[in-house]
Amino acid sequence: MSHHTRARYDAALHATLEKVRRDVHASDRLLRDPVQFVHRYVNPLDQELVALVASAMAFGNVTSIVQKTELLLGEVGSSPHRSASSLTKLQAQLKGFRHRVYVGDDLARLLVGARAVQAQYRTIGDRFSSLMSEGSDLRRALTTLCDEIREAGGLPSDTLKVGDRRGPKHVLADPRGAGANKRLMLFLRWMIRPRDGTDLGLWPIDPKALVIPLDTHIHKVAMNLGFTTRTQVSWQTAVEVTDVLRLYDPADPVKYDFSLCHMGMLQRCPSRRDARRCEGCGLINHCRHWKSHGRAKLPLLSDG
Ligand code: SF4
Repeated sequence: MSHHTRARYDAALHATLEKVRRDVHASDRLLRDPVQFVHRYVNPLDQELVALVASAMAFGNVTSIVQKTELLLGEVGSSPHRSASSLTKLQAQLKGFRHRVYVGDDLARLLVGARAVQAQYRTIGDRFSSLMSEGSDLRRALTTLCDEIREAGGLPSDTLKVGDRRGPKHVLADPRGAGANKRLMLFLRWMIRPRDGTDLGLWPIDPKALVIPLDTHIHKVAMNLGFTTRTQVSWQTAVEVTDVLRLYDPADPVKYDFSLCHMGMLQRCPSRRDARRCEGCGLINHCRHWKSHGRAKLPLLSDG
């Protein structure tokens, strides 16, 4: 397709990506990131379940994501894997919970479905890793896993009809679709990328298999850096952006996600020249909105 970006390795951009990664104050940014919740648990069974449910909540306004996830996990209790062993009990615990398209029942079913996969295969990671080693690619393995969770939790898999609530569908994406599966990619990043204070390195899976969790922040940044010309936040765009990042770290392309995402959020990246919002953006020397205009007009350049 004419869309295809033929990105080439750029040493200056590589240095910039590394600098942005070094400069991100991970501990501060963690407070604005739902992965913080996963770090509160020590049992890998709880970490998996909390990661799945926190990633399911990760859409829309970050302040409300963090507040509502806090509330939800308070209701679930200190041992999520124990709570998720009984659907009726967990349904009762989450009865009053509401968040956007969700009611408590949607999240109870997600947790119970995921807990059933743990009960059968020891951990979700073990199940996922065996699906991957059977030769499935990431998306196919994930499709099977999601189907299993859906079935075990009693989340309907048929397409939505007019008047249906969207919660049961939205709580676990269907990787067969054209979407970028951002929330599931986030879940996988947390579980698979090496432990670095943000991600947990819990699953025995090669991080080079990961695809970037593409949301509007990352998409804007990726367009501004010329990583993609695709205007849709789709699976294909996510794969394309990941392939460009692979030039900079073939073993762990998604390692740049956290810093780029938080930089995009912090700058409220406007995707156009905006002296105020672009000020201090570490990517400014590589951003298509500034590159061709000469440096004379750049605001406070912090060049690395
Ligand atoms: S320079 Fe401005 S438009 Fe470009 S990536 Fe940074 S914040 Fe976004």
